[in-house]
Formats: sequence, structure tokens, C-alpha cells
Amino acid sequence: MVVAAGRGERLGSGRPKALVSLAGRPMLEWSLATLRSVPGIERIVVALPVDNLHASPQGVIVVPGGEARSHSVREALRASGDGEPVIVHDAARPLTPPEVFVRAIAELKSSGADAVIAAAPVSDTIKEVDVDGHTVLRTLDRSRLWAVQTPQVFRRAALERALADAPDELLVAATDDAWLIEQAGGSVRVVDAGPLNLKVTTAIDLRLAELLLSEGAHDPGRRIG
Ligand code: C5P
Repeated sequence: MVVAAGRGERLGSGRPKALVSLAGRPMLEWSLATLRSVPGIERIVVALPVDNLHASPQGVIVVPGGEARSHSVREALRASGDGEPVIVHDAARPLTPPEVFVRAIAELKSSGADAVIAAAPVSDTIKEVDVDGHTVLRTLDRSRLWAVQTPQVFRRAALERALADAPDELLVAATDDAWLIEQAGGSVRVVDAGPLNLKVTTAIDLRLAELLLSEGAHDPGRRIG
């Protein structure tokens, strides 16, 4: 499931981020090309903004996204049939190597966890601040901190249950789907996604992604496994 229904306000391009042109194609197309090269993926569901359903790419199931990211995931999950496991990926991560999907799927199988998520060990020290947004409350132990990304791979029943049980405030607040699994008492593991898994949020991220793509960071023709 590719969530592509965000408005992309921080990018400021005046159109949904997933449809912004990146190295000659809509950003979403880079993730789709990657997913098509991952062995075992049977079906791809894309959540698009309600006003942009006409931008539907070939060979995928399209659903209208929701108000919050988790609503988009819920819509996509409903349309996704009965495949096992289910994978959630951000359209805003056009450079994720196919190997990251393969490793996350393998880890789900071997670990018995409810979810396995791509992540990066943080390189900056992270501090928590007070509600004023500036006064430092505490410094966290960096050696145990990971920045959470996608893909996120789930046992279908665990994600279905977590989405069904979560109150709407939680769905609105959730910035990643594995948090819903944690809230439901499920187990989540991380795999290191490596340095290419950046998320395009700002105009600078877009330029960086353009540069990396121009240097061959994405090879959609490559089959693995
Ligand atoms: O806003 P953020 O960059 O965290 O969004 C991550 C991903 O979630 C993006 O690919 C975006 O298109 C998607 N999203 C969505 N539906 C929403 C909000 C975000 O599909 N309502």
C-alpha cells in the first residue's frame, strides 16, 4: 500500500507531493517501480488525494485517501484483498532500495513480530522540550534511538485489529502505523534502511533526491531475490 494522499504543504509546490515531478516523472512512480521489482508483491494499492484520482497510475488499485495518514492506510487496507503480509510505504520516499523491502519481509517471517519497520539510527542528539517548544526537559540516550521510516511490514490481522481498535484521536495523531500496533500491545522490530531512504518533505529534500537520482541511486529495472 502506497500512501500518496498527503497535501505536501511543506514542499509548497501547489500540488500533492506524490505527484510533483522528480527527475522526469511523478514522485509516486519511483516507489511504484521499486515495488514492482520486489519479489512476491501481488497487488499494489495507492491512496491518492480525492481530487487527484484521475492521476491513477497503470496496474494499481486506487483508493481515495483520508484526512489523516492512518485514514489513508485504512482505506488502502480495505481494498488490498487478503495478501500476507501487508506493506505500507510512503510515496514521499522515492529512493528506498528494493532490498529494504526484502529484508523487512524476511525479518517479519523470522522474528515472529507483528510488524517490522525500516528505520535509521539517529545521528544527532535528541532532546525533549517542554510544551513551550524551547525549554529542554531531558536528553535521550542516542544509542537506543531510531528515526522511523517506511516501508513498514505488518501481519495483516495485527494491522486490521490495530486500525479497528484505535480511537479516531489516535488515528489522527499517528505519524507512523507501527505506533498503532504498539498501542494495541503488539511487537514491533526495526531494520536499518541505510542512507538512501530519505523522505521528501521540503524543497531541499527534493533537490537532494534529484541529485541522487541523476547519479543512478535508483535502478527500477533491477530484479532481486
Ligand atoms: O506528511 P508526511 O510526509 O509524513 O506523509 C507521509 C506519507 O503519507 C506521504 O507519502 C503522504 O502522501 C501520505 N499521506 C496520506 N494521507 C494523508 C497524509 C499523508 O496518504 N492524509
